[in-house]
Amino acid sequence: MKFNPQIYKLPDVPRQPFIDEQEILDYINNSKPSKERVREVIKKAVDKNRLSLEETAVLVNANDPELIEEIKQGARELKEKVYGNRIVLFAPLYIGNKCANDCKYCGFRASNKDAIRQTLTDYQIVKEIEALEDNGQKRLILVYGEHREYDADYIAHTVSLAYSVKKGNGEIRRVNINAAPLSDEGFKKVKDAGIGTYQIFQETYHKPTYERYHPSGKKADYDYRLTSLDRAQDQGLDDVGIGALFGLYDWRFEVLALVRHTNHLEACYNVGPHTISFPRIQNASNLDIDDNYLVSDADFARLIAILRLAVPYTGMILTARESARIRNEVIHFGVSQIDGGTKLELGSYSMNLNQKQDLNKEQFKVNDDRSLNEIIDELLKDNMIPSFCTACYRLGRTGEHFMEFSVPGFIKTKCTPNAILTLAEYVLDYAPEDTATRAWQVIDKNLELMDDPKMKESLEKRLQKLRDGQRDLYY
Ligand code: SAM
Ligand code: SF4
Repeated sequence: MKFNPQIYKLPDVPRQPFIDEQEILDYINNSKPSKERVREVIKKAVDKNRLSLEETAVLVNANDPELIEEIKQGARELKEKVYGNRIVLFAPLYIGNKCANDCKYCGFRASNKDAIRQTLTDYQIVKEIEALEDNGQKRLILVYGEHREYDADYIAHTVSLAYSVKKGNGEIRRVNINAAPLSDEGFKKVKDAGIGTYQIFQETYHKPTYERYHPSGKKADYDYRLTSLDRAQDQGLDDVGIGALFGLYDWRFEVLALVRHTNHLEACYNVGPHTISFPRIQNASNLDIDDNYLVSDADFARLIAILRLAVPYTGMILTARESARIRNEVIHFGVSQIDGGTKLELGSYSMNLNQKQDLNKEQFKVNDDRSLNEIIDELLKDNMIPSFCTACYRLGRTGEHFMEFSVPGFIKTKCTPNAILTLAEYVLDYAPEDTATRAWQVIDKNLELMDDPKMKESLEKRLQKLRDGQRDLYY
């Protein structure tokens, strides 16, 4: 039978599973695109058009090294054209590692008796946040195992606690969450606590593989997890992050499934994911996975570039799971957010632990142990603007990445000035002298590039206000 991609397509019904394994496998196995077709698809994406599943499959199946290079070049171009040279910085804060699930790749899984279990007390959370603020952090993602202790009330409580901690000029202005799926009521509670993004990664969209790696606990239910962000959307929590854990199954399948998930959210809720994450399996205490599908560095770079082209409006998050070398390379393919100064061991920010990592205390191994300032320094050397901006979220401008992407001039009048203001705050309050000098040079250079004299004048006035001691100025 001739391959007809349309015949398998599932209808997009809210809260209904929307992944058709056969449909995705057909795309992977039956598409042998010509060079012309691949170039046509790259061009479409670089011209700021969202790609269909079929078009994404064209990129996934382009194996010629010359075409792979063109895909990466396309992602670089799109990133420069749409997002400019800003990178948003954040830090993860692990609140508790008790877990009732048994994900075979995770050091926190219930059957791992070597894991040292801990939930931070409120006092410890405050100390951790003070230490993060002392470093200059403004944006956090709170991370939890899946356990009855970490219910919606507890998550909402920790979010409010995080917002309440102020030290010196330090404060947390945006709290995102990475935790288990909640009930409808639960999503409503955490939304009301003022969270930014709620991230839930499907880990693998391939159901047989999913079932093998999630043998017990609530997370064993593939469909419940798959439709969890539908429940969030139904409760008005429209700022959601999706992701796949690369290395469990064929990366090409996961990329197409992430695009399928995006299609589903767009079709049912008229809003795509705020962010897409692409964690890659790292070593963990008692890691128990097959190595058949581990993703090479080359394929990792490729899949990030393909995701950038396929969903040009979404934020893309690259974490310290990856080494500084890999991060410095793939950041140019359209990554918009990275973490800095990351520590996964519970309580380690305030204890200023710098000793060798102990896998029994962490979820997985961190490969980029640069401090936040070291990362900022390197971004500046690379002519990028490190940003702690939280303006859209606080002004109720939801869909910020979509606005950056679709509203002409949004980057020039909002994002770049806000990035500069938050960088200036960091410099005034936390940066050592050499970083400060470098940062002011980057700020001056970006001011010179501003073509709207009114905007430039307004920004210069605000920079002066920051020097005079005001804080938290944004557009
Ligand atoms: N417990 C919640 C859950 O599973 O959804 C919260 C998330 S978990 C603490 C954060 C994410 O880390 C997981 O969703 C998974 O993708 C990732 N992860 C788990 N083990 C990992 C490993 N060995 N290497 C890299 N990432 C891993
Ligand atoms: Fe628990 Fe999440 Fe780890 Fe699975 S990935 S064992 S749910 S902490």
